[in-house]
Amino acid sequence: MTPKKQRGQLIVLSGPSGVGKSTVIAELLGQRRDIYFSVSYTTRTPRVGEQDGVNYHFITRQEFERMIDGDELLEYAQYVGNYYGTSLKVIQDKLAAGIDVLLDIEVQGAAKVRRRVPEAVFLFIIPPSFEELSRRLHGRNTDGEEVISGRLEKARTEFKEIPNYDYLVINDKVSHAVEEIEAILTACACRVENRENFVKGVFSL
Ligand code: 5GP
Repeated sequence: MTPKKQRGQLIVLSGPSGVGKSTVIAELLGQRRDIYFSVSYTTRTPRVGEQDGVNYHFITRQEFERMIDGDELLEYAQYVGNYYGTSLKVIQDKLAAGIDVLLDIEVQGAAKVRRRVPEAVFLFIIPPSFEELSRRLHGRNTDGEEVISGRLEKARTEFKEIPNYDYLVINDKVSHAVEEIEAILTACACRVENRENFVKGVFSL
């Protein structure tokens, strides 16, 4: 029997552009329908195929700055010239209802969440090698050489943040990366602090 949770687990996932994060997340959410994926707010323009309210809430800089001023964001960061941020209210409501929440955010935002929500679990996803990351970015066929080398440079700086994360997931193969994340989430759910209700109920402590 799986005991009912008091609070949901906040799961923070970061990783460089081109690592295959979106594919891994889509696969994970397909298997774990009980996880809520937080749809971020951003000022960047939608890419082909992206939908407002599904991939992101696409808003103007003015609207974003209004959200900052109104203290409506759990965290936010500027990334390659655009704002990205997570709604505080949505996250609070889900966690309070015992629902696990997944954030796909970059390293500066993750550092802010670490300060505000230390009980969150922090996962960093990497490719099997730097060469493979470069190969994947070239394989997308969407960006020029300059954009790709900018992303690779950014990846090098992001890798320096790895020691601040709890777990490192290696995306050599999507199914393998998803398996590793599932194992981490299972371990989190078994933490004593996440099973206090269960202990109280069973042993009347
Ligand atoms: P992209 O423009 O490729 O969708 O995302 C660029 C980066 O922004 C990715 O590393 C992604 O994880 C990050 N990101 C997406 N949403 C948020 C957010 O709400 N907050 C922060 N800090 N980063 C985000």
